[in-house]
Amino acid sequence: MARLTLNKVEKTYPNGFKAVHGVDLEVKDGEFMVFVGPSGCAKSTLLRMIAGLESITGGELRIGDRTVNALPPKERGIAMVFQNYALYPHMKVYENLAFGLKLAGTPKAELDQRVRHAARLLEMEHLLERYPKQLSGGQAQRVAVGRAIVKKPDVFLFDEPLSNLDAKLRAAMRVRLTELHRTLRDGRQPATTVYVTHDQVEAMTMGERICVLKEGVIQQVDTPTALYDRP
Ligand code: ADP
Ligand code: ADP
Repeated sequence: MARLTLNKVEKTYPNGFKAVHGVDLEVKDGEFMVFVGPSGCAKSTLLRMIAGLESITGGELRIGDRTVNALPPKERGIAMVFQNYALYPHMKVYENLAFGLKLAGTPKAELDQRVRHAARLLEMEHLLERYPKQLSGGQAQRVAVGRAIVKKPDVFLFDEPLSNLDAKLRAAMRVRLTELHRTLRDGRQPATTVYVTHDQVEAMTMGERICVLKEGVIQQVDTPTALYDRP
């Protein structure tokens, strides 16, 4: 069970600025939800609160049946993919994928199986022995996604993951990430996803539902078709 529930969630930054105003939202188990809106609308503040990288100053955040307001990131069952990939430059792709599992004490055989499974899903088995600096932007982004998959999280969080790619790669990655989400869900792996972007095309093509934000308030939450029909 990896439903994500935001109950009157608020964020006031230490300088007194209120960035998030009582947000109510439920992301269903296995759903692909996109947060979209202009710069400054609080997309990344919300995502960082879900991830545990930013404190919650009001309301309640639940992942599955647990209230996670006070839980550190490691204990939330989430995996986050960042815009800048955040790969370890001195490690090969295989080691980049394996590192988190190794720290968590995962047995070697299982670790190897999970790394190869993720590499197969992302069609990057031939990249496992390369170093990050030997990868293209699109390949590096796939490694970053692979690193999230090996963790088998309850919830995937994406923070503008395609912003640094050129238009052609971005289009290809939109399709790839959407297919990946379906594959995981069909394989009965929890695949609840929150995907942050300022790109309307990404939102409309990838989201099963879209949450439109403005100045820390939800404007609308609906399917792409419904939003398109009644803008
Ligand atoms: P987005 O991701 O949609 O661009 P952010 O979540 O980064 O928006 O920011 C939302 C609002 O909160 C903005 O007005 C931003 O300036 C403000 N903000 C972000 N981080 C801080 C901070 N650490 N202290 C004060 N205000 C902040
Ligand atoms: P993004 O839009 O991708 O969140 P930003 O440039 O808005 O990137 O923010 C970069 C960093 O600066 C973040 O850690 C954010 O929390 C912080 N930040 C953004 N706005 C403010 C602000 N008004 N005061 C203090 N810190 C801020």
